[in-house]
Amino acid sequence: MSTFQDLGLNDDLLQAITDLGFTKPSEVQEKAIPILLDSETDLVALAQTGTGKTAAFGFPMLAKIDVDSRTTQGLILSPTRELCLQITNEMKLYGKYCKGLNVVAVYGGSSITDQAREIKRGAQIIVATPGRMKDMINRRLVDISKIQYSVLDEADEMLNMGFKEDITDILSHTPTDKSTWLFSATMPREVAAIAKNFMHAPQEITVGNKNESTSNVSHEYYLVNARDRYQALKRLADANPDIFSVVFCRTKRDTQKVAENLIEDGYNAGALHGDLSQNQRDLVMNAFRKNQIQMLVATDVAARGIDVDDVTHVINYQLPDEIETYTHRSGRTGRAGKTGVSMVIVSKSEVRKIKSIERIIKKQFEKKDIPDGMEICEVQLMSLANKIHNTEINHEIDKYLTSINSMFEDTTKEELIKKFFSVEFTRFYNYYKKSKNLNVSESSSDREGGRDFRGSKNSTRYFINVGGKDGFDWMKLKDFLKEQLNIGRDDVFKVETKDSFSFFNTENELKEKVLAHFTDFKHEGRFVNVEVSENRGGGGRRNDRRGGGKRDGRKRNDKKGASGNRGERRRSEGNSKPRRSNSSDFGSSRPRRSRR
Ligand code: ADP
Ligand code: MG
Repeated sequence: MSTFQDLGLNDDLLQAITDLGFTKPSEVQEKAIPILLDSETDLVALAQTGTGKTAAFGFPMLAKIDVDSRTTQGLILSPTRELCLQITNEMKLYGKYCKGLNVVAVYGGSSITDQAREIKRGAQIIVATPGRMKDMINRRLVDISKIQYSVLDEADEMLNMGFKEDITDILSHTPTDKSTWLFSATMPREVAAIAKNFMHAPQEITVGNKNESTSNVSHEYYLVNARDRYQALKRLADANPDIFSVVFCRTKRDTQKVAENLIEDGYNAGALHGDLSQNQRDLVMNAFRKNQIQMLVATDVAARGIDVDDVTHVINYQLPDEIETYTHRSGRTGRAGKTGVSMVIVSKSEVRKIKSIERIIKKQFEKKDIPDGMEICEVQLMSLANKIHNTEINHEIDKYLTSINSMFEDTTKEELIKKFFSVEFTRFYNYYKKSKNLNVSESSSDREGGRDFRGSKNSTRYFINVGGKDGFDWMKLKDFLKEQLNIGRDDVFKVETKDSFSFFNTENELKEKVLAHFTDFKHEGRFVNVEVSENRGGGGRRNDRRGGGKRDGRKRNDKKGASGNRGERRRSEGNSKPRRSNSSDFGSSRPRRSRR
């Protein structure tokens, strides 16, 4: 394992790297940087999203350009305005000690004359979307005849979006002896053709397997009736209180509709699709980036620019038409070393597509059940308990305590806790008590039978107060429990990790052992608590026909289009108040970034 120093970067860049807090190069950086620094060569690099490609081409480009000259020497083409701005931003950070450096972003939807003026001041590096770049060339607002380095970033996505001709055209205005560096997550035929036609004997590097999705993403699918799709989506969200997700739909219409419905039902949701104005899209993206939107409903094309690192879940509300697209979708989560979950809601007629996707991504899907109402109630309750437990006391409250205390003079602590939690619980309980089972069995002889055997009667379900935040995904937790309890791998099942807590099952015989082991138990300095959960883990499921319907029967009074986030979450009492920016607001808000 090498360091950035070993890769041969100069002191200015190394200082910026230290400032950024990068401790060691990622694999694509380790492979690409020395090649690009040491030789004038073309390069094809295949690596998934989130692997650090920007720095892989950014550092060498910064090392090689002459900042004392005002000539444009480097051109980076990227598919969307979003990415274009992101790359520009990163390049500025990487080059902050390169005195005289000027990086300019060129993209549609913003003043072309302003961009032209910035370039005229002398931009050594231009980061551009193909459409606007071509426009600028045609209007002679930019001179790229002295380019020495050109980068095609996210080449597969650029071609997907129909930029092939623009790219060809742009490259025809650059010198033939420049170096071209192509970065892509996948290598479809069109990308291979670009490499063949525009590059000279490119060196090739591959990180991970071609077309394989990021390894820290786990894939799950949920089988429901097509008409229950939306209900299923809501349950998946409710079962993951800290969700920060991108929900993919197939069409702009569905995208808009699902987002509107979610907003109406009190979720922090927003829509992102091509029928919205640039301004509307910016608003939604900004809200998403600030974690004010928890569920961003998007079309594939609109989502291409999303480059947010801590997306916890990708939800495929509908599967894409092209199976390849699934890789792009799931690549929106599990970025920058974090784990992520890609969920697919399928109806019976689509199940076979799961198999095709498995072949492409070379990973198995786990078939999971849409949680039933009581499971969700418990998850919500435990999540609240956790938040309260971790909440720092705001002493601004102190001055009101006398009156509050007098109100609760005759209330015992136990009663108070019960009342307090009932505020949240009753709302979910009332909504879900009559909810139906949304799961459809794949065939009559599926695992349902097996589950019943290990279902509610013979097994015990537990709650444990560690989860994703503590570095556990379901596999790691399973291994941890197996090791701690010295039992077999299959003795722990139905492991379900949430952000700050988890559930698992064992056979009833192990109950005493489990509880005894985790009494006064500490792991990495903190108490790990295991309790028997009332939630049977798919056991005591209700089959009531009724259900669905609007939460707490409240009428909505505002309907918003693109972005429904008004800082409100009407869905629940605790969640319903306007969001404050204060992170101790356990009921509603999710200043999620603060939790890691
Ligand atoms: P890609 O273009 O491959 O999708 P990015 O270049 O956007 O990935 O990088 C993803 C994230 O990882 C960014 O937030 C970036 O700042 C961060 N990153 C890049 N390289 C490193 C590194 N060596 N160490 C830590 N973080 C890194
Ligand atoms: Mg990138």
